[in-house]
Amino acid sequence: MKIAMCASEVVPFAKTGGLADVAGALPIALADEGQEVIIIMPRYKAIEDSKFNIKRLSDNVSFSITGKNIRVFFLENANYFNRDALYTEKGGDYKDNLERFSYYSRRAIELLKEINFKPDIIHVHDWQASLIPVYLKAHFSKDLFYNNIKTVLTIHNIGYQGLFSKLEFPKLGLDWGLFNIEGLEFYDKVNILKGGIIFSDIINTVSQTYSRQIQTKEFGFGLEGVLNKRKNSISGIINGLDYVIWNPETDKYIAKNFSAANHELKARDKEDLQAFCKLPLKKDTPIFGIVSRLAEQKGFDILAERIDKICRMDLQLVILGTGDQKYHQIMEDMAKKYPKVISLHLKFDDQLAHKIYAGSDIFLMPSKYEPCGLGQLISFRYGTIPLVFKTGGLADTVNKDNGFIFDNYSAAALIKTIKEAEAVFKNKKKWASLVVNAMKLDFSWEESAKKYLQMYAKAKNK
Ligand code: ADP
Repeated sequence: MKIAMCASEVVPFAKTGGLADVAGALPIALADEGQEVIIIMPRYKAIEDSKFNIKRLSDNVSFSITGKNIRVFFLENANYFNRDALYTEKGGDYKDNLERFSYYSRRAIELLKEINFKPDIIHVHDWQASLIPVYLKAHFSKDLFYNNIKTVLTIHNIGYQGLFSKLEFPKLGLDWGLFNIEGLEFYDKVNILKGGIIFSDIINTVSQTYSRQIQTKEFGFGLEGVLNKRKNSISGIINGLDYVIWNPETDKYIAKNFSAANHELKARDKEDLQAFCKLPLKKDTPIFGIVSRLAEQKGFDILAERIDKICRMDLQLVILGTGDQKYHQIMEDMAKKYPKVISLHLKFDDQLAHKIYAGSDIFLMPSKYEPCGLGQLISFRYGTIPLVFKTGGLADTVNKDNGFIFDNYSAAALIKTIKEAEAVFKNKKKWASLVVNAMKLDFSWEESAKKYLQMYAKAKNK
């Protein structure tokens, strides 16, 4: 199959979040399955020629290679993309984001003809690429070249929809007839993601549970009705994990490498983490690790509510992350009050993240909502047992055989589950079996890529 992957950020070229990981890893996994894939993304300032061996194709298109031989096309526009950040400046969105991504979307479609690549599927991601299915049907359907190309939309987080004032609608170059409740209108505003949802042949999100949740009022951010109308075309596919980067057998950042067969060696990583964090070297006290944004979405509200009580339990807490000032302050106060219990690192630090995944016993991730979640998948790989709230991708990946899960979002339920985890931790035999179960799970991209292929096949038959 021929696939054009269209995303506004792609690893290793540009990244602000999980979207870039998917858009970077999925094409490689699809190519490994024998598919022909190209990637189309904007050319931002940080994508330098020398860093990525970029070559010129035409006046406003350059290209590079990722994976074994996947062509990546960069759409250039000095006005729109030659900037420091991808979407925001000084904490606010760039004022011309509608124009920027409308330009990107239209040019992505034109490029296919320019390079004579007629895909079976154009796979678009999030609102930034959601105008592609709209333009394809509204402006390109009469051109035979574009005949029979199907579109797939992946929604990574429905909280981001690309909402703009109605006054900007003319800049899209679309007929006003599309500005209505059956089209891109959303409470008198323009909603780009809504356009993607209506015009794509097939839609998916990054876990099955989240795909159902976004069709409800609680999680749909106002788009539940539109999604519900398309429920037969919506599915969920869990993200894969990069098993080369996240591999306890070869990880260069951790004190001692280990595998499922010799997971006892993980004790050395625990010792190393305790020493690094200046926590008492106690092997019988469980370390709860957190690597996360410090945000309500990630469960910091219920964690903060009873953090004092948690700190008086027989455990150690290593926290790495940045986010809301409110939670920085609460955690800083607690770290001062309980220096032998909490080790707090308010920063982004990839190396320390690896040490925490490897050296902790339990990974704490009580997210209020979670489209997919990577933290729990990484911790499985390192034999660190996740403790999560039952939502989205967490509900689809964590169960009682590989972790701890609570289904009532409250501080009381969180504490109860922490106690349960502490009790199981004391039972060495039971704990070892949890660790082995977790380490044997397979969340590699290979499995997820196969599911995407099945979805593309379904789209082709539409
Ligand atoms: P998000 O909603 O933030 O994308 P995910 O669980 O999907 O949450 O992915 C978060 C990723 O970012 C994980 O790989 C996690 O290890 C990493 N991460 C988050 N915060 C930090 C940090 N402060 N330092 C290093 N890595 C971090």
